[in-house]
Amino acid sequence: MLARSPSFFRQYLANVPKRHSAWPRQWRRAEPKRSYEVVIVGGGVHGLATAYHLAHDHGIRDVAVVERGWLGGGNTARNTALLRSTYRHPASAAFFQDALERYRTLGTELDYNLMVTRRGYLQLAHDEADRAEFQAMIETMASVGAAAEVLSPEAVRKRLLLLKADMVGGLWQGEAATVRHDAVAWAYARAASHLGVDIVEGVDVSSLWKFGDRACGIETTAGSIETRRVVLTAGWRSKALAATVGLTLPIAPYPLMAAVTEPIAPILDPVVVSMRHRALVQQTARGELVLGIAQSDAEGETEHDPFGIAAQSVQGLVTLFPSLAGVRLMRMWDGVIDVTPDASPLLGETALEGVYANCGWSAGGMKAAPTAGHALATEIATGTPTALAAPFSPRRYETGALIEEKIEARGR
Ligand SMILES: Cc1cc2nc3c(=O)[nH]c(=O)nc-3n(C[C@H](O)[C@H](O)[C@H](O)COP(=O)(O)OP(=O)(O)OC[C@H]3O[C@@H](n4cnc5c(N)ncnc54)[C@H](O)[C@@H]3O)c2cc1C
Repeated sequence: MLARSPSFFRQYLANVPKRHSAWPRQWRRAEPKRSYEVVIVGGGVHGLATAYHLAHDHGIRDVAVVERGWLGGGNTARNTALLRSTYRHPASAAFFQDALERYRTLGTELDYNLMVTRRGYLQLAHDEADRAEFQAMIETMASVGAAAEVLSPEAVRKRLLLLKADMVGGLWQGEAATVRHDAVAWAYARAASHLGVDIVEGVDVSSLWKFGDRACGIETTAGSIETRRVVLTAGWRSKALAATVGLTLPIAPYPLMAAVTEPIAPILDPVVVSMRHRALVQQTARGELVLGIAQSDAEGETEHDPFGIAAQSVQGLVTLFPSLAGVRLMRMWDGVIDVTPDASPLLGETALEGVYANCGWSAGGMKAAPTAGHALATEIATGTPTALAAPFSPRRYETGALIEEKIEARGR
């Protein structure tokens, strides 16, 4: 090794930024202007992806993202960051497969390490009904170019050496991945800000305005903003905002929790799910086990028993992997997800001209952001939804063309 003198190290250390203080800001902290071409309500992954695609793909840069708290602090910060396309309805499978593929190159596109890591997704079949359901699912998925397979019990045991629970096989999607969820929000924010989008944090939107039969602005804690296009990416709070202009968005709030254990030696490669045992588990690169905790059936933020529900999920995990019984939980948190009656998102222009929905993502919105942002920006810019997004129009509740994914959304 090359010898270095003490003065070299003193000089080197003198140039190291103190407490990261010299790092440049990743996005401009903007004060809201009095009018914009497009205003996006909610600075989560969907609001930011939509803003980025408006500016990048269509040159629409007179855009504000207005966030009541801090950027990416909603469900974007709280999810278990699983990316997959195992869905029942062909429209969902096609949409989420497109998103999975976009995630593969998103880090390069945004020049940001998103830590997309191919892990594989293994959902256990506990009886023949599960197996039959998985078989039907993989056929639907294959019809839209998404790959998955049904594994035999032996093949499952080969992948999960510590598994002790009874099962009759599993659903396997090898290309399923995990992502660094905060980094996705930061990357979109940085790219959108560089393209001229105003990112406004700490400003609450209280209502929308309309003039005649179209949107014309919003009211915020920083005053009024005129705009002819408002995008609702405020999660479950989108419903109340829509109601201020007489729109009904079919969204109900549900609590959903997750937890993380102390780090342990690597024992688990794929993300493992068991609906019967209410368990979802993946191991991070640092060795922690991240647990998705089944949501309660109670509607609303406060009407549930978080510790009771968490205990059920931990019990489920220990039933699957008894050798994990001594591992200690370090932290637990929750988010309030935005669930629609068919558990599929609301994406596109609503019944009121100029008001667009990008919400109702249930427990699966993290994985959807690249496709949803691209699709909604395209609809705003061209007036026409993309083929992938068209089935998710909020107006499907007027026609009855629902995209039923309910069981899936409750189990993730
Ligand atoms: C525990 C848990 C686990 C999950 N696991 C997964 C998973 O593994 N994979 C997956 O794909 N998805 C998962 N999800 C779901 C995923 O996190 C969400 O679907 C996704 O983050 C939705 O992004 P969003 O931008 O729509 O919402 P959010 O990230 O919640 O952003 C909405 C933003 O709007 C802001 N806002 C609300 N009201 C206003 C207002 N009036 N004015 C201004 N701003 C406002 C909020 O502060 C918030 O920052 C999980 C969710 C939870 C809670």
